[in-house]
Parts: sequence; structure tokens; C-alpha cells
Amino acid sequence: MKPVIVRTIDELRERVRGLRKQGHTVGLVPTMGALHAGHLSLVQAAKADGHKVIVSIFVNPTQFNDPKDLDKYPRDEAADVALLAPLGVDIVWAPDVDEMYADGFSTTVSVSGVSEGLCGATRPGHFDGVATVVTKLLLQAQADAAYFGQKDFQQLAVINRFVTDLNIPVEIVGCPILREDDGLAMSSRNVRLSETGRKTAPALFLALSKAAEDIESGNDVTRVLAHASKSLLEAGFTSIDYLELRASDNLSPMAQFDRPARLFAAAFLGDVRLIDNVVVKGR
Ligand code: AMP
Repeated sequence: MKPVIVRTIDELRERVRGLRKQGHTVGLVPTMGALHAGHLSLVQAAKADGHKVIVSIFVNPTQFNDPKDLDKYPRDEAADVALLAPLGVDIVWAPDVDEMYADGFSTTVSVSGVSEGLCGATRPGHFDGVATVVTKLLLQAQADAAYFGQKDFQQLAVINRFVTDLNIPVEIVGCPILREDDGLAMSSRNVRLSETGRKTAPALFLALSKAAEDIESGNDVTRVLAHASKSLLEAGFTSIDYLELRASDNLSPMAQFDRPARLFAAAFLGDVRLIDNVVVKGR
């Protein structure tokens, strides 16, 4: 059955009230549309947990630090709804920008610590935009649980932080990264890759996986990361935004592998910026 498409906060509230009255719980999957199997896996996780599912589709202008990136962001609501219908999604929450940010909007949710460095360093204001809009989405949908991908691991850490700090009554569920057969992490931005770029793109996951293995075997972290950077540039990446080992829990920088960790990377192929991360397993 086709999900109902809701455009106003009043209607969303009324529908959520209706679901709750019938004894249902509600799972929210926030997205910016241009849906792919990675997004759909979050919907499946919410369904598997027994929730009625709301998928929000909102390209949030305040989290884009580059206006060109916002302009070029792929949008196709009809195609998105067609992908969601067979999964039994109940509500698509697709407000326009004026409904989300009414005249005079002046509030920002800003998280320190985990939002610093990595994407926080090169995308100023990005995580303020994310934290503010996700806070709004959580309050609008009044969901019992909300589902996010580990693809955006730092974003997930930021969300966990403010949900704890602000005592927002919702369970945050982190879901595994879905990848193409060649290892490339699925992303709405992948459609913007050139043919050559698409062939080069899996090198990011390969370099991260190899570096993780080398760190797991006890090699020097700085040397491993330098080698991985070199291999990315040789593979055809235009530039590297960051390639770093960070603690899994609070994302603090690590010069040595002495705690549970993840490797994080962001790199450009032309004007397309790809991010990815992998776990580094302890011995
Ligand atoms: P976006 O539409 O890019 O803002 O992503 C919406 C949600 O989907 C976020 O929680 C992302 O982390 C998640 N997501 C995006 N790509 C993937 C992927 N390849 N695997 C799992 N989750 C993903």
C-alpha cells in the first residue's frame, strides 16, 4: 500500500496520535531522499522492530555548507515513494522548507566534542544543521525509535550525544553500512560520479579495509595512514579531506591503536565528496 504523504506538522501529529491510540509504536527513518538500498535497510530494521514507520524526506538546507552541493543534491520524491510503498511504510513526512523553518526561526542545537574534527572540521556548521533538524524531526514525529546508518558514523555519534544530553525520549538505532558489490558504500551522491569516478570510487573502501588490517596487525598508525593516502591519490582520487583513526565511543583522535577504534575517511573524486568508515578490530 502507498504511504500517505504528509506536508504539515499538524497533520503529522494527528496521524501519529491515531497510530498510538491503536496501540502502535512509531519508528522514524530520517532521510534526504534520493533513496537507495541503504535507506531501505533502515526502514526494514524499523519494521523488524515492530514499529509503524515514518520516513522523512527533507533536504535540509541548513546542513549544507556549500550552496552548490545543495543545488546539485538529487531529488525525486515520486521515485522515493515508489521504493517505499512495497516495504509497508505508513507515512512519508515531506515538509517544505517553510513548514520546517517558520519565519523568525532562531534556534540551534549545537554539540561540542564528537562534532569536532572529521566532517566537522571541513564542513563548518554542518553538524549544527544536522542536530537542529534531527531534534525537530524527533519532536515532530514523537517516535519511539529512530534509525540511522553507520555510514555517517560521526553524525550518529552527534545524535546519540544530544539525545542523551537533552533527555529526548527516543531509542537511537545505528544500522550497518550497505555497500555495492565492489565495496563502495551506497550514497545518494554516487549518482553524481562520472564513469571513471565510479570505477575509482571503491578504492576508498579498499584502502580503509587494508589500512584497518595493517593497524590490526600492529603496524605504526601514522605510517599506515600515510600509505593509505598515497594509494588513494594513486588510484585517482582528486584530494583527501581526512583519513584518521578515532576512538569508537567518543571519536577522540588516536595516534596508537590501544582502544576500540574506527578508521574514517572523506575524499573527493572531482567535485563529489565521498565518506566511509570501517571498524578496526582488537586482537
Ligand atoms: P541521507 O539521506 O544521506 O541523509 O541518509 C539518511 C540515512 O540513511 C542516514 O542515517 C544515513 O546514515 C543512512 N544511510 C545512507 N547511506 C547508507 C548506507 N550505505 N548504508 C546504511 N545507511 C545509510
